[in-house]
Amino acid sequence: MSTDDAQSEDTHIDIADGVDHQVAMVMDLNKCIGCQTCTVACKTLWTEGGGRDYMYWNNVETKPGDGYPKDWEDSGGGWQSDEHSEREPGEIPAKERYGGDWEFNHSEIMYDGSDEPLRPQNVDPEWGPNWDEDEGAGEYPNSYYFYLPRICNHCTHPSCVEACPRQALYKREEDGIVLVDQERCRGYRYCVEGCPYKKVYYNAAKKKSEKCIFCYPRIEGEGPDDEVHATACAEECPPQLRLVGYLDDEDGPIYKLVEEYEVALPLHPEFETVPNVYYIPPYAPPQHSEDGESIQGVDRIPREYLEELFGDRVNQALDTIERHRDRTRRGEDSELMEILQDKNPAQQYRLEVFDDD
Ligand code: SF4
Ligand code: SF4
Repeated sequence: MSTDDAQSEDTHIDIADGVDHQVAMVMDLNKCIGCQTCTVACKTLWTEGGGRDYMYWNNVETKPGDGYPKDWEDSGGGWQSDEHSEREPGEIPAKERYGGDWEFNHSEIMYDGSDEPLRPQNVDPEWGPNWDEDEGAGEYPNSYYFYLPRICNHCTHPSCVEACPRQALYKREEDGIVLVDQERCRGYRYCVEGCPYKKVYYNAAKKKSEKCIFCYPRIEGEGPDDEVHATACAEECPPQLRLVGYLDDEDGPIYKLVEEYEVALPLHPEFETVPNVYYIPPYAPPQHSEDGESIQGVDRIPREYLEELFGDRVNQALDTIERHRDRTRRGEDSELMEILQDKNPAQQYRLEVFDDD
């Protein structure tokens, strides 16, 4: 790596005490087309019926936008500082902020030849998952939006775990996946309140909390054909924008993107839970004047907005990516660009590297 790469001297991996290895995911937001295949893959595998209808352990929202549940970013939770000693108070979103478990007129349209639009039946909903799809912000010709896929971050300092008075939530020792022990859970919902990303859900039918399990049966070898598989949201993604592996796998692309090049960033780092899902921030062309000329130096997606989502480090990350794009334009090698364009599943999904431990 050359000296002008964004590599800090004090690079270190923050893995929770008592955890051997930490699973992690990197999503490249420049590749997301908002198709919701990941959402459907997760939904059909884990949250169909049984009080889970309204739950989307994986959701994809348009940014800028209010998201799912509505205004989750302003719902509190997390920690007051990086000392992780005092939690920030949070709220439990009302059911309407998620949207309901609506019945749709699928069968009339699919099988009875109806030309009615697809709509929820007998309700007049005011919000739901993906409600503000493609609205974005800005004025033509400089309007903008991008997609943000979200799952539980399997945080290094999970405020959901700390919030539970029954110790029903826990971080697995072998890989840091955050799970809810269904036997211990009493459905108090302190975890829902405590998670700043609102990625724990209450199942009113079972009176238990439930959440993304990072497809642990699949990564343990109980996937299709009884083999190790990456999470369903990753494998099913048409542009294959997710890397799945371990943060502490120093030969893997996740470690390089997060720790060496520092171009993969956590969402809302100010919540202080230290997420293990990272994002390559969206790279946008410059703004255009009304006569169609590029306004150099003025990004289509305002940097202030990206700073709100990913913190100040987003500037350095985007500068690093731009520098490496320039290198490849000049015909020079760039390991960073190779990683970002790699479609080799053996590198994308490195889930068996610690099997001999
Ligand atoms: S994202 Fe929320 S639910 Fe997931 S580990 Fe972090 S605090 Fe817990
Ligand atoms: S499947 Fe991939 S491209 Fe489609 S919405 Fe999900 S992350 Fe984006």
